Amino acid sequence: MSKNYVIGFPRIGEQRELKKVLEKFWAKETDFSEVEKTASELKARHWNYQKEAGIDFIASNDFSLYDNMLDTAVMLGAVPARFKGLENEALYFSMARGNKEAVAMEMTKWFNTNYHYIVPELNKEDSYALNASKIINEYKEAKAQGITTKINLIGPITFLGLSKRVDRGDTYEFFGKILPLYEQLIKEISLLDESVTVQIDEPVFVKDIEPKVLSLIKPCYDALCTAADNVNIIVSTYFEHSSEATRVLVHTPVWGIGLDFLYGEKNVGSLEAIAKSGKKLIAGVLDGRNIWKNDIAATVAMLEKIAADVAKENIIVSTSSSLLHTPFTLKYEEKMDAEIKNWLSYAVEKLEELNLITKTFFGEPLSETEQQALQANQAANQSRRTSSLIHDASVQQRIASISKFERDGTYEERIAIQHDVLKYKPLATTTIGSFPQTQEVRKARREFKNGMIDETQYTKEMQHYIDDCVAFQEKCGIEVLVHGEPERNDMVEYFGEQLKGYGFSQNGWVQSYGSRCVKPPFIYGDISRPKPMTVEWISYAQSRTDKIMKGMLTGPVTILNWSFVRDDLSRGEVSKQIALAIHDEVDDLQKAGIKIIQVDEAAFKEGYPLRTSNIPAYESWAVRDFKIAVSSADKETQIHTHMCYSEFNDIIRTIEAMDADVISIETARSGNELLKIFAEVGYRQEVGPGVYDIHSPRIPSVEEIVDQIKRLLEVLPKEQLWINPDCGLKTRKWDEVKPSLENMVKAVEIVRASL
Ligand code: GLN
Ligand code: ZN
Repeated sequence: MSKNYVIGFPRIGEQRELKKVLEKFWAKETDFSEVEKTASELKARHWNYQKEAGIDFIASNDFSLYDNMLDTAVMLGAVPARFKGLENEALYFSMARGNKEAVAMEMTKWFNTNYHYIVPELNKEDSYALNASKIINEYKEAKAQGITTKINLIGPITFLGLSKRVDRGDTYEFFGKILPLYEQLIKEISLLDESVTVQIDEPVFVKDIEPKVLSLIKPCYDALCTAADNVNIIVSTYFEHSSEATRVLVHTPVWGIGLDFLYGEKNVGSLEAIAKSGKKLIAGVLDGRNIWKNDIAATVAMLEKIAADVAKENIIVSTSSSLLHTPFTLKYEEKMDAEIKNWLSYAVEKLEELNLITKTFFGEPLSETEQQALQANQAANQSRRTSSLIHDASVQQRIASISKFERDGTYEERIAIQHDVLKYKPLATTTIGSFPQTQEVRKARREFKNGMIDETQYTKEMQHYIDDCVAFQEKCGIEVLVHGEPERNDMVEYFGEQLKGYGFSQNGWVQSYGSRCVKPPFIYGDISRPKPMTVEWISYAQSRTDKIMKGMLTGPVTILNWSFVRDDLSRGEVSKQIALAIHDEVDDLQKAGIKIIQVDEAAFKEGYPLRTSNIPAYESWAVRDFKIAVSSADKETQIHTHMCYSEFNDIIRTIEAMDADVISIETARSGNELLKIFAEVGYRQEVGPGVYDIHSPRIPSVEEIVDQIKRLLEVLPKEQLWINPDCGLKTRKWDEVKPSLENMVKAVEIVRASL
């Protein structure tokens, strides 16, 4: 009997082999056959890992050269007109990355993960046709290696739900066009073997689901399940509960239903209905998107609870989601502290855990090695509960005794004092923080890290950069200066490295999009700040100018959202600890004479929960912790924040409640449309809407920026507006940044003169 199940496996390769070969191919340094060779090796390796670990349900078609949504679009022939005429890999990679003639398709975040998928573009004129070759070939490829896989597909409802229509119409209107292709696909799959299992992912079911979408589920799965009688269909969801959809699915002929019991606790409410239906339950109980060692005893206990409703023989033990969101293997982590490493588990280690959980739950005999592994698991979990590396009494005491949750004074009171002290003009100019990260800066950071240059030398190089940066800004006429962030490789990592309770991996790469990977730091213990983190750099920068130097910090919510977070404390509590550390930094900066401090919350919005009902809880701690972080600022210290997006309609009241004196945002690409909400709700604080798009190398002309500022002035009065680019300049070149900022300053002069 088959008892355990992996939703999907990462594919970039434990040494990022896929990334490397793809980038070589794109640079025309190798041909496509080498890409295919690497891909085959990786698939074989990943299947074998799972087979050796005793996994019963192993996926095929979880692999992709770029992205599974893109694969699905190609499978259905949903190719935007601008790519017509191209074929095979040229077509595929052009859709993903664009080419000389055609821009790439849009990319966006996969639910609340940091993985990005390609957004399919649908057009009324399109006619679709099935091409199942990738799916069929991958199944055969595994079969030839002696592994019978379950086939992963993205479901038709999720495909439509995540697509966009060129005419902005409703994508679900294409349901009638798409469903027959999926039926045909199931028929083709049915020919592969005597019996085949198919996992159809429908993660859109975990969001607030509209009645219209809900009504598609039954016709969809009735049709797919009757398309062939030797195909077992599993509908799989993850990241939240999918109660509404499950209530419908139990009345369709699907063979199994996959639910996430870790991130969708409410799924337990569906157990009775599933039990009654006699269907298989793919029980997601092993964390697919975090890096902590599973607590096997606790997970087995959780399964026993599930088994109180659903018969044991109908339970299949599963990961909570695809393991795509975790790094590969701890094998290459050579530098990590042994105690900390012993608390972690990446994808390969999770397979072994899944096997142990399954055997324990089903009462199967354990080999001697397995028994030892089980004991080691208990010991590791025990060590996590008690280790002094994790539990810091002084942090907990401080948390318990916070008495000041916000700044002194109302906004009106503060801003009046700030204007007296800072004396900036309406339409004051500034930037978001970083300046171009040159080769030399990167080299100096790398050499310092590797011990090739000493601290004195490193400091000298950074100061040299800061000098240039300050000199340029003064010459250009920018009014509020920044130091340029040369010492930061990344806005979260930089702070993580200086905080106690933060860990870093050597090889913990996770795919972000295409060939791009990120290596998020992880929070394993109580957070504290042993010493000031930015004060020396900022004070140095301030010492080089008589103008105002803006201090630059990353906010608690963003630090949290871009890290792996410990699972033994709520996110809100972890965030509160980070907030205290930032609070201390704000205080040290102002004591050092810094008068404006920006606390970036670039990832504030992406932390929003998938279900509306969970939003108030998130907002309450996220806002609380931003406010705690800046609560040490005196009335005359001006607090800025920056957010990397433009759509504020849903969250404008929350933004207001954060109580920053100034917020800079990303509206450059949409004129003044997106700013209107600020005026509509009577937003009082000052706003710096980006006046040009830094995501493109284009240099905006003076006239363009003048126009843009005039449009902004149609919405908000000059006293309320700051003028700045729409994000940090780190990824740009100096010869793009210099003329752009010069034009920005000239534009402000022209507009000021005309007022
Ligand atoms: N201060 C950061 C920078 O300028 C902000 C980056 C961001 O918003 N993503 O790079
Ligand atoms: Zn930004």
